[in-house]
Amino acid sequence: MKRVLFMGAMAAIALSSCNPKEEMHTETDHSDFQWQVDRFADIKVLRYQIPSWDDLTPQQRIYAYHLTQAGLAGRDIMWDCNYRHNLEIRRALEAIISSESVDKASAEYADFEVYAKRVFFANGIHHHYSNMKFAADFDQDWFLQTLADLGIELSEEVQRAIFDPSFDAKKVNRADGVDLLLASAVNFYAPDITQAEAEAFYAAKEDADPARPVSHGLNSRLSRDENGEIYEEVFSARGRYASSIKEIMGHLAKAQAVAENEDQAKALGLLIEYYENGDLTKWDDYNIAWVSTTGGDVDYINGFVEVYNDPMGYRGSYETVVQVKDFDASARMAVVADNVQWFEDNSPIMDEHKKESVVGVSYKIVTVAGEAGDASPATPIGVNLPNANWIRVEHGSKSVSLGNIEDAYHASAGKGMAEEFGFSTMHNERAEKYGELGSKMHTALHEVVGHASGKINPGVGTPKETLKNYRSTLEEARADLVALYFILDDKMQEIGLMENKEAGYAEFDNYISNGMMLQLRRILPGDDIEEDHMRNRQLVASWAFERGQEENVIERKVIDGKTYFVINDYDKLRGYYGELLREIQRIKSEGDFEAGRNLVETYGVKVDAELHAEVLRRSEPLNLAPYSGFVNPEMEPVMEGDSIIDIKVSYPMDFLGQMLRYGSTYSFE
Ligand SMILES: [Zn+2]
Repeated sequence: MKRVLFMGAMAAIALSSCNPKEEMHTETDHSDFQWQVDRFADIKVLRYQIPSWDDLTPQQRIYAYHLTQAGLAGRDIMWDCNYRHNLEIRRALEAIISSESVDKASAEYADFEVYAKRVFFANGIHHHYSNMKFAADFDQDWFLQTLADLGIELSEEVQRAIFDPSFDAKKVNRADGVDLLLASAVNFYAPDITQAEAEAFYAAKEDADPARPVSHGLNSRLSRDENGEIYEEVFSARGRYASSIKEIMGHLAKAQAVAENEDQAKALGLLIEYYENGDLTKWDDYNIAWVSTTGGDVDYINGFVEVYNDPMGYRGSYETVVQVKDFDASARMAVVADNVQWFEDNSPIMDEHKKESVVGVSYKIVTVAGEAGDASPATPIGVNLPNANWIRVEHGSKSVSLGNIEDAYHASAGKGMAEEFGFSTMHNERAEKYGELGSKMHTALHEVVGHASGKINPGVGTPKETLKNYRSTLEEARADLVALYFILDDKMQEIGLMENKEAGYAEFDNYISNGMMLQLRRILPGDDIEEDHMRNRQLVASWAFERGQEENVIERKVIDGKTYFVINDYDKLRGYYGELLREIQRIKSEGDFEAGRNLVETYGVKVDAELHAEVLRRSEPLNLAPYSGFVNPEMEPVMEGDSIIDIKVSYPMDFLGQMLRYGSTYSFE
């Protein structure tokens, strides 16, 4: 629930989690580093740099290295959780690509390779963002014959998984009215377990301390035994994925030995204990230790963390993000966290929903050194953890913006979308000059202030229980609205983050244009919007458009057959954002499912078919990939005898090559 994806300023970009923003942004000067290394289907693959790597000591680099290795060791878990046949399919793809006897110059191979790259990018056969299964647009007979020549035979069901479009068609299905589990192919639940069964299973769970509930279901698959009874197959060194988890633990122990300080070592010790038996109270202990560990230059995320891939919101996907602190940028942004109580006190939400004291939000700009699992190749640009609400309230949270990832997006984006969809030269110039700053301010406010704001009324359940399949859309909308509301507040100048309001105006333009039009580029004609962040953005933009129609606050203009949404009154629009924020906070605080469903279904789901067709028509000639992700830097130990004395980093140019190397080096399931 706590991730931000990139939405920059309307360029061509995408990410995977909290806030995939479209980017209509422009070049920043980043020397002549080549950012893009691959382009296929709707994807472009970029590289990112670790500019602060050389500022670390060898011991810090070794620490980061072991943390990165721990992440990669869990890669198979992500694949298997995404779908039960993913690993078998991946191995078949790897066999064909690695084989020297396969003719790589054939047309059949070329079609196959695009499919394979899409699967590698998504950690499985379903699209990382839309959740729809990839069409197998390659020659089935050629594929099966090639595998047979390599001595590989796929079962009937695996062949259906690849080639039958209706079979396990969607990884995560949150549509209104479906059985969320039967309609979803994700492997967090045995295929025949129903939503009602899972709900009953968790309704029966009790907590020793109801005020401090553990994250039930976070690290397990819900399975059925031979008597038909439902039980949790826990992910641990003694349970499911034991061989991967033991590898992870081994690397974490090596990291612990070279940690920068006692607090880091202690937290890692708790994480290792948790992996040993999967005890969720240990996970909470670890998170408390982790969130309190703010010293040191290297930090990390590791575990079964974000629950976006579970249609019911219980189970976490395995991920790692290894981070190096960016001191200068963090110092500049510390002022946001320092003022978080001011923002809460001055928020337009109802007084009874405000937190009296917002505890311990730390915000840092970090440089990513390596990512794995759910965070790779598609990555968030911001993360705010831990997710357990009571830990956030009592112990605080850590919020990070992934600075070098954001920079890579901005640096690699062209001006095409901006020029096509920007309404006037004034708008385009403002976007060029202030868009990046506006985007960064939005991210900071969304993460630090947005997700940390507000409280739930006593006696009301968690959003997972009350708002169900609408909880993520509404949570992201809430955090976006906090950011949009405050980005035009005088406070931003007072605390020195913005010299004037231009970056706020640029962000408003970007948000409306994206929410009303640009993001539609990502979906197919006739489809509804499914993804939570896209739903959230359309909800906010189209609600505000309708709210201001009488006073023409946002004007729909058509010039030479091209549609633009132009903001005429920024202050009024800001007021509407405040109104909607107040209502969505009320929905969350009271657990008002019907009102939440009504907002999302009315404004966030249905697409204006004509406008959609126009967006596709106008963006098609620009040939921009709607989604991006990254290859990771490669880390190579420098040895002296048997010991690692330093780590060298290089930036690979070959996406498929990295995927194959990961497959051969880090596969334990
Ligand atoms: Zn978010």
